[in-house]
Amino acid sequence: MVNGETKLVGVVGYPITHSLSPVMFNAVFESRQMNWCYIPLAVKNAEDLKIVIPALKKLGFTGFNVTMPYKEAVIEYLDEVTAFAKLAEAVNVVHLQGGQTIGYNTDGRGFIRSLEEIDYQLSGKKVLILGAGGAAKAVALSLALEGVRSFTLANRTLRHAERLANRLLEKFPQAQVEVFPLGGELAFYLENADLIINATPIGMKNEELPLKESDVKVISNRHLVYDLIYWPDETPLLKLAKHKGARVVNGLPMLVGQAAASFEIWTGLEPPVQTMRAAAEKFLEERHGQAEKAIG
Ligand code: NDP
Repeated sequence: MVNGETKLVGVVGYPITHSLSPVMFNAVFESRQMNWCYIPLAVKNAEDLKIVIPALKKLGFTGFNVTMPYKEAVIEYLDEVTAFAKLAEAVNVVHLQGGQTIGYNTDGRGFIRSLEEIDYQLSGKKVLILGAGGAAKAVALSLALEGVRSFTLANRTLRHAERLANRLLEKFPQAQVEVFPLGGELAFYLENADLIINATPIGMKNEELPLKESDVKVISNRHLVYDLIYWPDETPLLKLAKHKGARVVNGLPMLVGQAAASFEIWTGLEPPVQTMRAAAEKFLEERHGQAEKAIG
């Protein structure tokens, strides 16, 4: 029950109606009988952040997540930003502490946590990333921090991949980074890679693959194929990779992992990852089940 003692957290973004965060966090607060409440905060325009952030401070919020499209824009309104968030040029968690706003980026942490969950060893691995947007950047930088030194980046807009390659090389000059257009011939690089990551939205709304069908043929049981998309839970890429014998992971463990890291920052407590994941899965199944019924 919400009362005068309730600690407030939330998520700032737009649109916000599809966010899984309120479901994940409130399930945890309820199961742990914590007097906390997580609220979706729809902010329509970036310029409103300069009003909203001081207002959240004044209202005594403990913290808030930041989602699309404000992960970069929020930085200029914060007092402090961690070294990784600075490197990734994006913040997805803010902690309000002692009147100060401190920005973190837990997307990369969420990704690494999800690999730890399946005991995937990163040492000496070669990584191929499709996409070069915000998620690709957080993932690539966190992999580099974990010691990965071989990257192939393939993106629709080549200069975005080049920009990410330069960012990686600036911080990790020993890294080997190659860039390619997404539609190019990637079979050789796919065959050579150990970990293949889709960080584009291709496969989210249709039956498309982010790679040429002829390239996908080289995927085999030596690959881990990771699609950052969390719904559908099996994208066309993951379906095909699984058929070829590859190990596959979808974006849900990363999403839960970044939320778990937010929980840790705000509460200082061990995050109840399983409760968060079960709440997210139930919500996705109900929401998409309803959509399918509406279509059918
Ligand atoms: P951005 O908008 O920052 O980047 C999108 C990337 O996808 C860019 O590289 C863009 O290429 C490419 N892209 C977009 N549309 C197409 C297309 N039609 N054809 C080819 N390439 C395309 O988004 P994010 O990086 O934040 O998100 C990327 C994906 O990762 C989304 O599916 C998102 O849902 C998922 N994600 C999952 C998270 C999780 O926790 N599981 C967390 C964050 C994101 P270009 O440079 O040419 O524009």
